[in-house]
Amino acid sequence: MIPLYDPRTGERDGEFEPATRAEITALATDLRKGQMAWRAVGLEGRIAAMRCWAGAIQTAATRIGAAEMRDTGRRRVSYEVPYMVANSIRGWCNDAPKIINQAMLQGQSSVVPSVSFRTQLVPYPLVGVISPWNHPFLLSMLDAVPALLAGCAVIVKPSEVTPRFVGPVSETIAAVPELAAVLHYVVGDGESGQALIAEADTICFTGSVPTGRKVAEACARRFIPTFLELGGKDAVIVTASANIEQAAAAVLKGAVHNTGQLCFSTERAYVARAIFEPFVAELKTQAERLNFSYPDIRRGHLGPYILARQADIVDAQLQEALAAGATLVTGGPSQVLGGGRYMAATVVTGVDHRMSLMREETFGPVIPVMPYDNEDTAVALANDSEFGLSGAVIAGETEEAERIGERINAGAISIQDTSLTIFIMRDVEKTSFGLSGMGGSRMGPNGLLRFFRKKALIRRSGPVLGMGELGEHHGSQSA
Ligand code: NAD
Repeated sequence: MIPLYDPRTGERDGEFEPATRAEITALATDLRKGQMAWRAVGLEGRIAAMRCWAGAIQTAATRIGAAEMRDTGRRRVSYEVPYMVANSIRGWCNDAPKIINQAMLQGQSSVVPSVSFRTQLVPYPLVGVISPWNHPFLLSMLDAVPALLAGCAVIVKPSEVTPRFVGPVSETIAAVPELAAVLHYVVGDGESGQALIAEADTICFTGSVPTGRKVAEACARRFIPTFLELGGKDAVIVTASANIEQAAAAVLKGAVHNTGQLCFSTERAYVARAIFEPFVAELKTQAERLNFSYPDIRRGHLGPYILARQADIVDAQLQEALAAGATLVTGGPSQVLGGGRYMAATVVTGVDHRMSLMREETFGPVIPVMPYDNEDTAVALANDSEFGLSGAVIAGETEEAERIGERINAGAISIQDTSLTIFIMRDVEKTSFGLSGMGGSRMGPNGLLRFFRKKALIRRSGPVLGMGELGEHHGSQSA
């Protein structure tokens, strides 16, 4: 049995039986059968079913939201997520025909005109999705929705920390029988995750770097593709020309949204020395305006940590930095309120890159701020990281910010704001740098196209091409 803990009280409030290897194997066999009909129904048929499902999710939004609220201890976001997922499904339904159409290449060989070709897109029969606890429903669906539209069957294994949302979401799946034949959640821990890897034809993993490494190794042994969306240590650069009030608001939002439990949280701020002091003062003022969503979950800005262990990790990084000479400007270590672990928006100065607070993923509402003297130094500091998920630049002029953004080694750079990635998920592709990920883009057209094997059907017209002709062409190419 895996125990469950209420993030707001710290109390054990449930337990569940993880899916066994045998159950996952049996499920995979069933879903593979279902996938044949799902593929045969064609894109239009799949779109119709997915639209139906989006409606079912919206109808069940309150129940899903309530369950996710118990998973995460936060209210507003939990109730918003079902609508975000329903809208994302509808968005992918709108975009999929065009994306697929554009990928269906056909034409004539550029070498031998009597040879022509066309693309066939063949969906991977069974996609496995393994997702984390920080955004339970949303992150379990980012890969699943385009995979389903591509014609794949999908098994999702969400985090063992936050599985309560699975019940009401599974009811919405059951309401659309065509979908129920190809989409299933299984609950469990790392062992269930490994069992899923043993069955799937491709794996989409969102989570930490150490687990991502294990997933990639297991997938490599099976020769199946894997897409890893991992942790980050996002930097923001604020230049001397920036509007201090606006920049502080953007940095604060980027760092403390969802109590910092977001992969693209702002985790390091580099601020031009000319405005460092007023910037830190403004950040402090704005940070101190934020309240805990305690005792009333309907009020305040900062919810509890979802996982008590995460609070310990953040406290340890903060403690280490302070012991090494950093200054606590505002905030401080986590506090226990009603049994939950809360942390105020915490601003720290006097930091350097020897501290784990500046090197390792924090995943808490902490903003370490460091001054810089020139642009090259700022860029070098931002790039001095093993990670490269996203980043941000805030300057007086957009052009200045964008020019600096081009120099940062990360997959998505927000210009004049932070955390803008969430707004362009279907629109544009991005790939991570460093340890932040592996595999093609989960965003933009490739977010859908990666679920197909691309097959080329190559036709000859006219006489059979002989060895002589092949040789001639090889010859002319290498000449
Ligand atoms: P985690 O790596 O501990 O767990 C993620 C998932 O992997 C869970 O479902 C877990 O049960 C499963 N798992 C654990 N061991 C496994 C194994 N050996 N084989 C297969 N599966 C296994 O991550 P977490 O603590 O749940 O999530 C937080 C992390 O996720 C942070 O590092 C965060 O940055 C990252 N994250 C990344 C993104 C992104 O899009 N890049 C988004 C959100 C979170």
